Amino acid sequence: MGINVIAFPYFSTKNMPKQSFDDWHGICFIYGNRRKQEGGVRVIFNIQKCSIHDGEGLRTLVFFKGCPLKCKWCANPESQSYGAEIMESPIRCIGCGACREICPQAAILEDGTIDRSLCDNCMKCIDVCYAEAKKITGREYAVEELYKEIEKDKPFYSMFGGGVTFSGGEPLTHSELLKDIAEKCHEKGINVVVESCGCGDFEKFKMALPYIDSMFMDIKHIDAAVHKTLTGTGNELILDNIRKISEYRIPLTIRTPIVPGLTDAEENIRGIAEFVAGLQTAKEYELLAYHSLGESKYKALGRGYGLEDTQTPDDEKMRELVKIGNSILLPYGKQCCWTKNNNKEVVK
Ligand code: SF4
Ligand code: SF4
Repeated sequence: MGINVIAFPYFSTKNMPKQSFDDWHGICFIYGNRRKQEGGVRVIFNIQKCSIHDGEGLRTLVFFKGCPLKCKWCANPESQSYGAEIMESPIRCIGCGACREICPQAAILEDGTIDRSLCDNCMKCIDVCYAEAKKITGREYAVEELYKEIEKDKPFYSMFGGGVTFSGGEPLTHSELLKDIAEKCHEKGINVVVESCGCGDFEKFKMALPYIDSMFMDIKHIDAAVHKTLTGTGNELILDNIRKISEYRIPLTIRTPIVPGLTDAEENIRGIAEFVAGLQTAKEYELLAYHSLGESKYKALGRGYGLEDTQTPDDEKMRELVKIGNSILLPYGKQCCWTKNNNKEVVK
């Protein structure tokens, strides 16, 4: 039975007159049959233009909100929840006190920041904060509107190559939107790449597969129990989905974030490389060095960051792991690599 409920109807676009709907503003939702009849309501938390990452050429990166995994090192923590969340930027606060005045829970402290233990997410403070020191992550898009945003970059795709990359969060868990928008882009000749953690219901997201040109898929850890400790979920479904997507003949790049002490064990890289060796459509295994650029976002969301003491792995470590990957993959005509300053390095 369909859900005819919008979880946060207060945040319809009609009710947010003062906010320009640029990247970070928005709404969270549960959409059901009624909204689908209206053309669909979905959540995107960021659209990044002219990226040279996550696919060939110049990319428009579209980030879906909501992910079934909760990786300890996630650089986009605002992508994890499917629900509405407030991000705070105290540096923008002008101390007007409007949010304190309107807050029904008395959850706003003297300095304008939120005591999250009192906040019930009513979002009233957002509407009165003209300094935009508080914003809601994510916003709703109808398919047509989202396509129009992507289409603006089409001239760049023609000039430099490229296309759209759907990332997240986890796009595969937004299967209807993913299918609709990927189909539309595909029809218009736009290259479609999906970046995914692989955790979703294959029977639901397979409808999007005919419109996807290639995918980046993560394997964080080859050991199911360790994977669960690191991300909150085992890897069985993920590995199964990757196999099925490969059988569907979609070109794959498998990726592993290298987080010191968590994913950087040689056995892990060896195990994942062996898995990649058996995937027909995976030609490349890419190692991504951990960075802490997302740390400030945890603070903005009122959450703690658990990896304060974790450092970016040094080049030597990355090369050592790439070598291990290649000792397994090169005989299969595949390669392991890592990227530094936009230069891909394959160490044999
Ligand atoms: S969202 Fe939280 S902090 Fe803001 S007004 Fe509502 S209860 Fe207060
Ligand atoms: S409404 Fe915005 S600018 Fe005014 S005190 Fe609250 S956070 Fe600061």
